Amino acid sequence: MIKVGINGYGTIGKRVADAVAMQKDMKLVGVTAHSYSFNTEVAKQKRYRIFTVSSEAENELKANSLKPDGNFQNLLDEVDIIVDAAPRKVGKENIGKFYKPNKIKAIVQGGEKHETAGISFVAQCNYDEAVNKDFVRVVSCNTTGLCRTLDAVNKKYGITSVHATMIRRGADPWDIYHGPINAIVPVLEMPSHHGPDVQSVLHNVEIFTTALSVPSTLMHLHTLTVDIKKKAGVNDVIELFKNSTRIRLIRNAEHLRSTAEIMEFARDMGRLRGDMPEICVWQEAIGITSNAHNKLLYMQAVHQESDVIPENIDCIRAMMGFNDGQKSIQMTNKAFGIK
Ligand code: NAD
Repeated sequence: MIKVGINGYGTIGKRVADAVAMQKDMKLVGVTAHSYSFNTEVAKQKRYRIFTVSSEAENELKANSLKPDGNFQNLLDEVDIIVDAAPRKVGKENIGKFYKPNKIKAIVQGGEKHETAGISFVAQCNYDEAVNKDFVRVVSCNTTGLCRTLDAVNKKYGITSVHATMIRRGADPWDIYHGPINAIVPVLEMPSHHGPDVQSVLHNVEIFTTALSVPSTLMHLHTLTVDIKKKAGVNDVIELFKNSTRIRLIRNAEHLRSTAEIMEFARDMGRLRGDMPEICVWQEAIGITSNAHNKLLYMQAVHQESDVIPENIDCIRAMMGFNDGQKSIQMTNKAFGIK
């Protein structure tokens, strides 16, 4: 059993904790608390052990009648690997301060820079790069979404170049601090950071990205234009996405025409928290230019809160020395109910 601890029990951390608890080859040792909140109350209800990251956090929990199971060092003493899902920059700091001195492996999230770990990870693209490594970064939700579909296209047709635009949700559904509420906000940086980030996983893909944020909390939406080396037809691309793992083809006929309907679909399927970890590609929005058949266009929706969760699970296995990437992906998919 791989002994796993979670630092940063928020949007990503609580989902990774539940996912670890579902795996037959992993044991969730515990999660950390940085402060008292409904998240810590739910962790307690789920009987997860709670370790405080500071004396302030310990006092806050005790003041709310919640007895912690120890402090961060106590958690580190029991685990093989930490998934650090604290806000950006904390993971980087913790590698130097805690994980290296305690000789513990750690995964950091997409808020950290590639250089923090030196390896950036999306299971179906570069599982092998993470095998037996001490520190790996699971890339952001947007980068994961781009890498999953582009890797499939690249393997089948070869990619000459990509232009992609990310229409990003303004905040997560629970988040009262971010926006916009009534504006469309372009990222005034060319390219947006997503292009170089994709190259940290798909090293040889030429990609240029732009991004903007909109007043929605549900999902991101990407539009992609991909110049491909081999000729393609729309039906071949549909088959390609249908047969690629962690990509879900969705159709107009199902009335899945928007991010709102996709989220409702995920809730109706009984997914935990109504999550949709697969990247959803609209079948009717796949197009190929008719002249040379070498320009592919498509649109996809990315559930920012959940697409990176299966990646964290596969990354744990890879770093702990399990070297069969396909098998790991299968095991994780089974636990998540992903076909
Ligand atoms: P979050 O704010 O939802 O959760 C962070 C949690 O960490 C909170 O519970 C907070 O109390 C706790 N925390 C704060 N400071 C801490 C500290 N010093 N030590 C330990 N815990 C601390 O954040 P999130 O959205 O889960 O993001 C975490 C990481 O995941 C970031 O790198 C982010 O970029 C990345 N990520 C986020 C999303 C998303 O859409 N939310 C998607 C993919 C990746």
